[in-house]
Amino acid sequence: MNFESSCQCSIEALKILSELQNVHAVVNVETILDLIHRVCAQGNSMVQCKDCTKTPQSSIVALPALSEKCLPLLEALCSAYDISTQPGFFDSAMLAFEQPPSPFICIRSKVIMGKTELDEGESRLLVRTVLGRSLMRLVQLMEGLKGIFLVMSKSSQMSHNSTSTLRACELSVETTISRLAVLMQILEGDGDHVPLLN
Ligand SMILES: [Zn+2]
Repeated sequence: MNFESSCQCSIEALKILSELQNVHAVVNVETILDLIHRVCAQGNSMVQCKDCTKTPQSSIVALPALSEKCLPLLEALCSAYDISTQPGFFDSAMLAFEQPPSPFICIRSKVIMGKTELDEGESRLLVRTVLGRSLMRLVQLMEGLKGIFLVMSKSSQMSHNSTSTLRACELSVETTISRLAVLMQILEGDGDHVPLLN
């Protein structure tokens, strides 16, 4: 193996993975948004990296797992800001995917613009917007990965191991897309319930 020509993507991916694994059970909004931003940014560079996309032996196969680890954090963020269509909807939607409740508790953050602290309704609107954007970025990353795994799986020089690795990756990507779709639905449904004036 020629290490000189290979990219540095795996180092950063591993760093993010270990941070995701070490997230404290009580976590703030900034930590969640920052981690998701980094997963998306690193994911996008790997999707565009010619070393990473060449073979299923590259660390690109870790991206589905990294993305899956973001989901309970996003769910905790929704809970913290009461983002749901109706009481209980959130849990039942998640149960449809046989997911245990998020092990994380997200604590709200103060949002200050200049000298003005945003009130609860305003902060919530802001969080919804940022959350919506994060969900979109994750979906785009998943779509990009799907394409790459498809091309890899059509390659003729695939070992048996690589084939099963790719299958597991494709399955994980599909599950993540479905769960992101549920979160988007929740977010959209929630739009009707945002009180503009408290
Ligand atoms: Zn790379």
